[in-house]
Amino acid sequence: MNYGLLWSKVLENIKMSVTSLIYTTWFENTKLYKIDGNIVTIIVPMDIHRKHITEKYLKDITDALYIETNQIYDINIILEDEITEQEKLSTPIVDNSNKEKEKIEYHHISNLNKNYTFENFVVGNSNKLAHATAMAVADSPGQTYNPLFIYGPSGLGKTHLMHAIGNYIEQNLNKKVLYVTSDQFIDDFSKISRFNETDNNYDYAEYFKNKYRSLDVLIIDDIQFLATAHKTQEEFFHTFNILYNDNKQIIISSDRSPNDLKSLEDRLKTRFCWGLTVDIYPPELELRKNILRKKIQTSNLLPNIDDDVIEYIAANMASDVRKLEGAINRLMAESLTMGYDKITLPIAVEALKSMINKGTSEKTNILRVQKVVADYYKISVDDMKSKKKSAVIVGARQIAMYLSREILSESFERIGLEFGGRDHSTVMYAYDKIKDELNIKYELKSALEKIKENII
Ligand code: ADP
Ligand code: MG
Repeated sequence: MNYGLLWSKVLENIKMSVTSLIYTTWFENTKLYKIDGNIVTIIVPMDIHRKHITEKYLKDITDALYIETNQIYDINIILEDEITEQEKLSTPIVDNSNKEKEKIEYHHISNLNKNYTFENFVVGNSNKLAHATAMAVADSPGQTYNPLFIYGPSGLGKTHLMHAIGNYIEQNLNKKVLYVTSDQFIDDFSKISRFNETDNNYDYAEYFKNKYRSLDVLIIDDIQFLATAHKTQEEFFHTFNILYNDNKQIIISSDRSPNDLKSLEDRLKTRFCWGLTVDIYPPELELRKNILRKKIQTSNLLPNIDDDVIEYIAANMASDVRKLEGAINRLMAESLTMGYDKITLPIAVEALKSMINKGTSEKTNILRVQKVVADYYKISVDDMKSKKKSAVIVGARQIAMYLSREILSESFERIGLEFGGRDHSTVMYAYDKIKDELNIKYELKSALEKIKENII
């Protein structure tokens, strides 16, 4: 509530019920100091004001307050120098000129997605370490691995695991958990300066502190996006320190390891490595099948599915759990519209033909990307894997690396291997470069669209 504004309205009302002499003598220099429950404290210049108002005008004030707020308040009148030093520090003194910031009530919401739990997370070789550490953290937040840093390509279950930890802690330990993406963090932080520059009266700095510094568990997703936001990194650093020093749990995810977060401040990278860093790999064949079975079992909208359908999808959709889910959704839609009571292999092949990479297997996926890109730029795949540095070859190589990551969600390490044994940092560089260029180079964008059509 904006005290300055409220008080000026109250005074307007009082002005109408008393003479102007009375108003200027007794009310003009009053201020609303604070509202605590149903007690309104106002500041008056001298003791004589307190005495006189108490004797004669309390009702005018309560009435005027009632008109503005619809609430009946008790009035407490004090002098400026009766405010203790302590109180002055914690509560801003306000006056009629609306200068103070309005408090934004902060209602805590964890942002957790209840559908992401440990129960429906399927464990296999490629994610068992990440899963086990997530369970350990969920069991004793702030005590085992702090921070927990999970990284790997997209679509492999990082976000799912983080919500699972949060849900578990909230339900079993009754602690205050917050899930945010780094974009949300950046947005919350930028509101402080954005609103300070305008005439806005909201106290976002206070809101920010309430939101981030009173937590037991902070979960922050896709931290790689913080890399370009330098001011926010500074704030994140403080938030991190405050929570960490208080033994509060911090859980972070990223598409790459802390050391590979190139434009992140070193002091943050160092801190990210203080606890435990785990990576999550693309699911192996067995895990893909188990995930598909679990999704089918829990969907209860799907009719019977032949086991060879599961084999077929698992064999052809290699790297990304999100895509496996996409395939299941497609089959579900198909069976609903067509009214199938059983999904056989021919039905599945037909329904999924646009999603499955022309029958290629895991090994040849990157090769297929390389081939299509090489054809497009009229070079050979060998050139692409070679050490040659002509502009066309380098450009095509970087595009093929980018697409291997973007379309296939392959890890940077794996892509590096398939491009003549290059280091993962080279792939990462290419990925970031093409990603940036896509925003500004229109020709590149349309070239990539054509190439993609030929790959998928
Ligand atoms: P990331 O954050 O790594 O990009 P997500 O957590 O968003 O990936 O996962 C993508 C989708 O795949 C989500 O719907 C998630 O529930 C599902 N998923 C990922 N891994 C698993 C798993 N091991 N078991 C069940 N579902 C999974
Ligand atoms: Mg995610």
